[in-house]
Amino acid sequence: MTDLVKPHTLRRMRDLIERGLAPAEDRAALDAVAERYATAIPPTFLELIEKPDDPIGRQVIPTPAELLTAPHESIDPIGDDALSPVPGIVHRYADRALLKPLLVCPLYCRFCFRREHVGPDGGLLSDAQLDTALNWLRDHPAIREVILTGGDPLMLSPRRLGHIVRTLSAMPHVETIRIHSRVPVADPARMTPELLDAMETDRAMWLVLHANHAREMTDDARRALRAVQARAIPILSQSVLLRGVNDTPEALEALLRAFVTARIKPYYLHQLDPAPGTAHFHVPIAEGRALLADLRGRVTGLAWPTYVLDIPGGHGKVPLGPDYLDQDTEGLHVRDPNGRTHDLPL
Ligand SMILES: *Cc1c(COP(=O)(O)O)cnc(C)c1O
Ligand code: SF4
Repeated sequence: MTDLVKPHTLRRMRDLIERGLAPAEDRAALDAVAERYATAIPPTFLELIEKPDDPIGRQVIPTPAELLTAPHESIDPIGDDALSPVPGIVHRYADRALLKPLLVCPLYCRFCFRREHVGPDGGLLSDAQLDTALNWLRDHPAIREVILTGGDPLMLSPRRLGHIVRTLSAMPHVETIRIHSRVPVADPARMTPELLDAMETDRAMWLVLHANHAREMTDDARRALRAVQARAIPILSQSVLLRGVNDTPEALEALLRAFVTARIKPYYLHQLDPAPGTAHFHVPIAEGRALLADLRGRVTGLAWPTYVLDIPGGHGKVPLGPDYLDQDTEGLHVRDPNGRTHDLPL
């Protein structure tokens, strides 16, 4: 088989409408969305979409609802901009920092908290900016962990990623390098031996996979993830709790079980950050806590993520429960997975 045309990533509103993924009467509104936010739907996701508003379609197909900005929504929902000492670095916690070498992603999530920044044009740090960012990390010995994020660091060329990983690995204080990526599910063909070679280091390398629905864990994705694990790189997951995607007990359980069967430890379930035009994805915190409480006792503990909120304004991430302990003047009371309460000594 030669001459196989590589399937295309869908980017244009016209093509969305032609493929029946958006109604023609939404064209003007979609063009307005496209002026503000990037769109990319790779072939892997196109194949998984059965209906535009199914759990895969909702994540990647632009809709006019994105033009509605709720009063509490912000273009910098978690305050990253104020914490950036040099371009490409975000430093909020003493022992770790983010390095964002590019703002390109294999697809553009409609709920992305960096949606005002990510996109296919620009966003790649210049060689000089990357040097400045790496020098900043070299000059900060308290930083033990560098988290490569973006954009998606696995969209870098193997040459550039290898340069970053090698440079970080030569810093004595950098013990851990973590890569946050959606590539293994969005574009598993990118996970070539050359890209995996670029991740080789004598430091602790961890991959955190971003996926939100069990259907994203295709056979190709599993093979790509297995190749990462074969390099002795452990994989964790992060997901965003999203209306119409994973906000039922069945969908959430299937997602978390799909991670565990792929040897991936669920790490974070994120409360949605209030980025502009994302209100249609919002799930109230009380509902998120109830969803997780439903898993307790019923689903293996391996599948449990920590449900976290990045406090709007840049105040950091905190777990949102559910919690099982109450305290009053009489002592401690603990709730069991069946909802019954038991007293404990203080
Ligand atoms: C989320 C985040 C991290 C990583 O936090 P962990 O809880 O270690 O996963 C680090 N720095 C910034 C600025 C972050 O937003
Ligand atoms: S992959 Fe991450 S950074 Fe890129 S659009 Fe999705 S959430 Fe945003």
